Amino acid sequence: MDIYDIIIIGTGAGGGTLLHKLKDSGKKILVLERGGFLPREKENWSSIEVFQKERYHTNEVWKTTGNRDLHPGTGYWVGGNTKVYGAALFRLREKDFEILEHAGGISPEWPVKYKEFEPYYAEAEKLYCVHGKMGLDPTEPFRSSEYNFPPVSHEPRIQELHDGLMGKGLHPFFMPVGIKLNEADPLNSECIRCNTCDGFPCLIHAKSDADINCVRPSLASPNVTLLTEAKVERLITTANGKEIDFIEVTHKEESLKFRASIIVVACGAINSAALLLKSASEQYPNGLANGSGQVGRNFMKHLSAAMLGISSKANPTKFQKTLAVNDYYFGESDFSYPMGHVQLLGKSDKDQVSPDAPFFTPGKMLSEMASHSIDWWFTGEDLPDPDNRVTVLNGQIHLEYKENNTDGFRRLIHVWKKILGELDTGHALVPHAIYLSKDIPLAGVAHQVGTARFGRDPKTSVLDTNCKTHEIENLYVVDGSFFPSIGAVNPSLTIMANALRVGDHLTALIK
Ligand SMILES: Cc1cc2nc3c(=O)[nH]c(=O)nc-3n(C[C@H](O)[C@H](O)[C@H](O)COP(=O)(O)OP(=O)(O)OC[C@H]3O[C@@H](n4cnc5c(N)ncnc54)[C@H](O)[C@@H]3O)c2cc1C
Ligand code: SF4
Repeated sequence: MDIYDIIIIGTGAGGGTLLHKLKDSGKKILVLERGGFLPREKENWSSIEVFQKERYHTNEVWKTTGNRDLHPGTGYWVGGNTKVYGAALFRLREKDFEILEHAGGISPEWPVKYKEFEPYYAEAEKLYCVHGKMGLDPTEPFRSSEYNFPPVSHEPRIQELHDGLMGKGLHPFFMPVGIKLNEADPLNSECIRCNTCDGFPCLIHAKSDADINCVRPSLASPNVTLLTEAKVERLITTANGKEIDFIEVTHKEESLKFRASIIVVACGAINSAALLLKSASEQYPNGLANGSGQVGRNFMKHLSAAMLGISSKANPTKFQKTLAVNDYYFGESDFSYPMGHVQLLGKSDKDQVSPDAPFFTPGKMLSEMASHSIDWWFTGEDLPDPDNRVTVLNGQIHLEYKENNTDGFRRLIHVWKKILGELDTGHALVPHAIYLSKDIPLAGVAHQVGTARFGRDPKTSVLDTNCKTHEIENLYVVDGSFFPSIGAVNPSLTIMANALRVGDHLTALIK
């Protein structure tokens, strides 16, 4: 059996970033990734292939309530879901780390506060080349420094929208986004500012994803070994149950075993919980590290809605993901509870619009709709509920989820429709289910977090504050699983910042 110092399972926002942090540690690191490298092909930028045919999603079938099939909108690749993400890289707000009262209940406190995350947020922003401008977002948390890269400018239609929103007393700000765009020198810019970014892989590798920014640069270190198409099946403990002894892996068709002093699970919140549960043994009949009974529970994914704002004005914008609004994040004058976050989506084309339109809509009309739409994405905070959970039944992932805390979120969408209507009387906001276009909305698990939350009390949490499992000495979970609450902004920068934080802990530990 091959023996390593550290094994990292999964190469997404969590695993990929941790690898980058540890690559120069001199320790022997094995990275196991169930997917391969996402191919570079023209289809990367085809709406039909990416959205209608779901070329880069897994064919795996999960189950949900009533034993119904669930076709998850997720992919297994080196870089994980960051291969297709919109690269909107936000920090949570300071208050998101505290107890926060919502209309639908309480969002719990984090055991580690924003102040401790702040330097790691700054490090993650630099690593992922985040462009932005501080001081514009009214809910922005404290920052020790300006962004390293200037904000991505608005194209004329979005600038017009920005000015209109400002005129209404709102505070639109530049979206913090991780792309390698140099607007001062377009000829030499890696990013060409195209219209196929949000939800697509980047054909020319100019998006800051975990594969390009973290995994590939780490492979230059002689002490790092990456095994792709290597699915970890089970973690096996030593006889006393205190440590992981070895792990069982299916590499292509072959069964392999590996051993390491430290094992880091970073399979994404749903698959990490599933792996711990699948590793149940006589000693741990309810799954590994599950003395609290919390593994798989408190699954969160955001309340989310995509909308097309169809206006009488044409919108020739190419790269649209440049503007966001947080004026309603914590509520409004006559509603003192959080409502959520508003941001622009990538610009949709007729092939993205068509699955949502009635089947008889002519192609020309679809093109007209797409060329006049501004595309919005709303996120609200869903609260941790122990009954929203991942289980594994007969080896298959089963996901239960019931929405909660919807009042503020519904109010946000209502307010936004009104604002857009006032800005442009020809405006109509219609649902646009591009991210939710599977059989049921639950399939949109893009923002999955919470299934192994961190905390100080082993009775109520799975991980300690360093993301080590309370029960197993050499087992860590470093992906979206650790979130005690989700906030209302996109989760990846927090996953990356946390991976860097845990990386510092591990570096000190293994010296
Ligand atoms: C279309 C889309 C758009 C998004 N846009 C944004 C955005 O703009 N901003 C943002 O912040 N977030 C966005 N997200 C969410 C973002 O991608 C996730 O938050 C992030 O990737 C989660 O990181 P993770 O490390 O938890 O999991 P992942 O990135 O999913 O990584 C998990 C890795 O583990 C591997 N793996 C799983 N099981 C096993 C196993 N048993 N053995 C070996 N390997 C395994 C997977 O293949 C994968 O590589 C988006 C997601 C999608 C799908
Ligand atoms: S906008 Fe830039 S980073 Fe995004 S897909 Fe296009 S070239 Fe790649």
